Amino acid sequence: MRLGSIGAGLALLAALAVLAAHVHALAPRTQIAEEYDFVVVGGGQAGLVIGARLSEIANYTVLVLEAGTNGDEFRERIGTYNFYTPAYSYYESLWTTPMNWAYYTVPQSHAENRQIEWTRGKGLGGSSAINGLYLTRPGKEEINAWKDLLGDMDGADNWSWDSFYAAMKKSETFTPPSNEIATEGNITWDLSTRGIQGPIQATYPGYTFPQVGEWVMSLEAMGIASSNDMYGGEVYGAEVSTSSINPTNWTRSYSRTGYLDPLADNGNYDVVADAFVTRILFDASSPSNNLTANGVQYTLDNGKTNCTVKVKKEVILSAGTVGSPAVLLHSGVGPKDVLSDAGVELVSELPGVGHHLQDHFNNTLYLSYIDSAIAYINSTLMYGDNLDALQKNITTQINQFVLNTTYDAGVIAGYKAIANMTATTILSSSIGQIELLFMNSDLNGDIGITAALQHPYSHGRIYINSSNPLDYPVIDPNYLAVSADYEILRDGLNLARQLGNTQPLSSCLIAETIPGPSVKTDDDWLEWIREATGTEFHPSSSCAMLPREQGGVVDANLRVYGLANVRVADASVVPISLSTHLMASTYGVAEQASNIIRAHYTDSRTTGTSSSDPGSASSPTSSALGAEGTTGAISAHTAPSGGVRSVSAVSAWVAVVFAAAVSIFHSLH
Ligand SMILES: Cc1cc2nc3c(=O)[nH]c(=O)nc-3n(C[C@H](O)[C@H](O)[C@H](O)COP(=O)(O)OP(=O)(O)OC[C@H]3O[C@@H](n4cnc5c(N)ncnc54)[C@H](O)[C@@H]3O)c2cc1C
Repeated sequence: MRLGSIGAGLALLAALAVLAAHVHALAPRTQIAEEYDFVVVGGGQAGLVIGARLSEIANYTVLVLEAGTNGDEFRERIGTYNFYTPAYSYYESLWTTPMNWAYYTVPQSHAENRQIEWTRGKGLGGSSAINGLYLTRPGKEEINAWKDLLGDMDGADNWSWDSFYAAMKKSETFTPPSNEIATEGNITWDLSTRGIQGPIQATYPGYTFPQVGEWVMSLEAMGIASSNDMYGGEVYGAEVSTSSINPTNWTRSYSRTGYLDPLADNGNYDVVADAFVTRILFDASSPSNNLTANGVQYTLDNGKTNCTVKVKKEVILSAGTVGSPAVLLHSGVGPKDVLSDAGVELVSELPGVGHHLQDHFNNTLYLSYIDSAIAYINSTLMYGDNLDALQKNITTQINQFVLNTTYDAGVIAGYKAIANMTATTILSSSIGQIELLFMNSDLNGDIGITAALQHPYSHGRIYINSSNPLDYPVIDPNYLAVSADYEILRDGLNLARQLGNTQPLSSCLIAETIPGPSVKTDDDWLEWIREATGTEFHPSSSCAMLPREQGGVVDANLRVYGLANVRVADASVVPISLSTHLMASTYGVAEQASNIIRAHYTDSRTTGTSSSDPGSASSPTSSALGAEGTTGAISAHTAPSGGVRSVSAVSAWVAVVFAAAVSIFHSLH
């Protein structure tokens, strides 16, 4: 692997100077080439998976362009920090550094016109470098619902549960907890559902508390039974979830440590940080309804100079739920009105770009990533016999919401398809509608319980209002526009309150501090939800995989409609908000994307259009990936391991977490 940059003439010199200042920790570095088979836009969570998997084919050349830092400056804080565990970086926090895009939403008219902070990772590893480490999986029924939305589209089977499950498993290596942790946290697991050879490490924290075990017991006392197959697609009930932590040294396992650092230099893969992609360039002689991308434009110096790299096979957008639609829009691919208002020339009309944005939103706390004690509460547990009435109510609201919009008819059809699938198949399934998350605290004596809505009926959008690609895109998640969202979240918060009053957890609690007992009526809850709702950091669907006539942006093979050789592969393509934290699913999307692309060129080779053989067992280079920690390559970045060190590290981290916690229950301790 090489790191470098390409520019033309003087721009090249400028570029190399900038690169020299930014890529000091990855070796060896050379100048990058003029053209590549594949150019991946965004070296975040998904982008580094795709770069690694494509570069396993020796005769593919692959370039990843990442707008953010290479992260070296923050390396210790990302992985581990002095004696602290990786989650310390979350609280300490990387959000105040250049590793965060630090976006804000536009004022949310149904949430007191607040502009809500939208943290997103910026740098190698993307959001996986700064996230809360929960490694959870979605439910079987919602993944199959995603496939069903695609009808008989070519490639739809890539998104069946069986396929997607295999892709998620491929990304991980699971290590069970120690006996002590398993007993204290009441943790169970099923090895058959877990990956055993993937690059990302999945395990449990090295330290836990009795209250974590009581979490599961209290939920059971409320009649909320736990699934025995949480990682095999049955997402309901309470559990202590796995985290993306490497148990050999208690460092963060993320796409850089798993998919980039262990790679050998085989001369066919370059990764460039601080390279902000401004637009995709198209061959003007290609058919206007099937445009061929022939280059990618980017800047290394904040727009002062533009560099161009040529593309031989494909451009793959992995710039995330905000970045991927933004790059398409600045390339002239998107809704006509948005492009015209922003002053960007229309290249290929695609009304769905940026639409169908969905996000989990929550109340109470989102700083919860300590013990990973969570619960997914499904509609049977929440509504019992009242489910039919709720479904009717939601269907009415969906129709009213659609009537109030002025969007393209296809986008509205897509909204209806997603929302109706959610209100029927998903709402009535065993999958959680609300996630409850447990937080522990000691410095201020509080613990917290968060309720997060998993399947919002309010959809928003990402768009641009400037022709300058470096200007931030506009983020409008449209929180709480459909009142069913508020109603389900309120019911989830009532469950959180009930849980705090249920033994054995309640034995260590004395009073609810936020919002406090004065919040009782529906109106009280509505007011408080509007004042306090924030994101769970799981936005998706802004380049939704749907039929084109439903405002889809990509087809089931991840190809952007109207473009011959551009795909999107990241969290933005998932068409339905999933009942899970999004990291494992994003690894699944990226692994599946790599399979699809490699298979495509194997097939084309048989028709004479490709010179490589990605499917052949002899083709992969020596950089083929195994489990992180099984190669010596990451040792330079990791702290020494050892039982004593591990425990003290986690304990110290816990203390820091507690300092940050504010919550709805005051504890006796
Ligand atoms: C604060 C936070 C906490 C979270 N906690 C959890 C958790 O505990 N568990 C969990 O499962 N999920 C969690 N998530 C969600 C999860 O991390 C993300 O959904 C997932 O990482 C998204 O992956 P991605 O590849 O789609 O995007 P990203 O990982 O965000 O990658 C996109 C990359 O593209 C780059 N980019 C953008 N625009 C351009 C451009 N124009 N040119 C070049 N590069 C560009 C970005 O800098 C970034 O590196 C959290 C997310 C955040 C932000």
